[in-house]
Amino acid sequence: MVKKIFLSIKAILKGHFAVLKHLFRQPVTMEYPEVHPFLSPYFRGRHVLEGCRGCGLCKRVCPSDAIMIEKNDNHYLNKYVIDYSKCIFCGNCMFYCPTHSMKMSGDYELAVSDKKDLSVDIEIKS
Ligand code: SF4
Ligand code: SF4
Repeated sequence: MVKKIFLSIKAILKGHFAVLKHLFRQPVTMEYPEVHPFLSPYFRGRHVLEGCRGCGLCKRVCPSDAIMIEKNDNHYLNKYVIDYSKCIFCGNCMFYCPTHSMKMSGDYELAVSDKKDLSVDIEIKS
């Protein structure tokens, strides 16, 4: 009986100690979207395309087949689509691009309510 009481008190004190220990620490969460996180310069978010020649190398190295490239009759790049429901943000398309046209921005707000909206037509800047 005495042992049980002692163990109960010990458990209660242990619980209170755990709470007290965390009471004065900085929170590890933040009040998103009011507060935005600090991102590493190497963060890989939404793709940005500038000066793309449509060679298709990015499509070939994409491990999740997330890239769709469409060319017109003159073999010029017409449309560049990334399916963010497949993309794993590995960065291969950026690392292997021979013209450094592909960049990955700090934009991580990619949530949509309809899955088909994850297929994004990337603006082709010249
Ligand atoms: S982004 Fe780079 S690798 Fe991909 S098609 Fe354009 S030029 Fe080629
Ligand atoms: S980041 Fe990786 S998975 Fe996403 S489109 Fe580029 S190569 Fe494909």
